[in-house]
Amino acid sequence: MIVIMKPGATAAEIGAVIRKAEQMGLKTHPIYGDSRTVVALVGDLTGITRESFDVMAGVLQTMRIQEPYKLASRTTRPDNTVIDVAGVVKVGGPEIVVMAGPCSVESRSQIIEIAHAVKDAGATVLRGGAFKPRTSPYDFQGMGLKGLEYLADAREATGLPVITEVMREEQVAMVAEYADILQIGARNMQNYGLLQAVGKVKKPVMLKRGISGMIKELLMCAEYIVSNGNYNVMLCERGIRTYETATRNTFDLNAIPVLKQTSHLPVVADPSHGTGLRELVPAMSRAAVAAGADALILEVHPDPDQAVSDGRQSLTYKEFATLMVDVARIAAAVDRNLAVFTEDAVHVK
Ligand code: PEP
Ligand code: MN
Repeated sequence: MIVIMKPGATAAEIGAVIRKAEQMGLKTHPIYGDSRTVVALVGDLTGITRESFDVMAGVLQTMRIQEPYKLASRTTRPDNTVIDVAGVVKVGGPEIVVMAGPCSVESRSQIIEIAHAVKDAGATVLRGGAFKPRTSPYDFQGMGLKGLEYLADAREATGLPVITEVMREEQVAMVAEYADILQIGARNMQNYGLLQAVGKVKKPVMLKRGISGMIKELLMCAEYIVSNGNYNVMLCERGIRTYETATRNTFDLNAIPVLKQTSHLPVVADPSHGTGLRELVPAMSRAAVAAGADALILEVHPDPDQAVSDGRQSLTYKEFATLMVDVARIAAAVDRNLAVFTEDAVHVK
């Protein structure tokens, strides 16, 4: 249920709604949007009528939310959520953010060199995996803590905020110390303990769609994070498993407008994992931006054939630079711009 406050409702009136709901045993989530303030009420609503709140001072209207994802729903919050990443860049606003870097952090010099290269081409967030979820237990599992330290060194060298994956609940505090955005990988989309744990930290989270995840399941998983108090969640389309074998995954372009329509959370597209083939990444990047994605996350490597993971889908520096020019043109066609890195942006860890 949501209680929509009148424009100009006072803090005391909003506070009275919150207190009343809490007395009824409900959890409250005040959502302060540009157009209106809403108090979302979650919990056992049996026996709770809309009239209990409709009569209160400052209340415009009370509505039941039909969708099972209450807080992630656009009905609850019509304005887009805009997520501030480390005071450097905003995801979900008019500007399109490009996150780029290797699949895995391979060494200190590698990640610093790539950070400079992707920054020069216009990326505003550095990606790199330190903990890697690999299909085979015999494959490279990531550099772990060393990888996180090297990512922090690359941030220091370039000013680019960093996104990296956290795979386990026990690692959340450690990864949150180094990362500016916590990535939840596709294989962990429904790891509810992990979702609750990242819901309790302050860092933005990028939640990837599971390999067989339905869009509504992705939204329910986002709800786990948001309902634990972390409203800074980005939803990432990274391709799903279908009968098609021409590509590694089937990049579900439909998911982008569906998510934009049903949720206020920013949408990130990952055409690298979505296609698995570097030659398809530019086309699907352009398509994702045309379809309304707020950000792209792309794998880039100086020598993709030598990459320890996902080389086949990693772009060379040159390919990435060309892609950036083309994506900027598509962004302009849909009345958006690519975010730019400003040297004076304050970096807050
Ligand atoms: C990755 O980003 O390198 C990754 C492992 O992604 P996903 O969880 O989408 O497979
Ligand atoms: Mn990868």
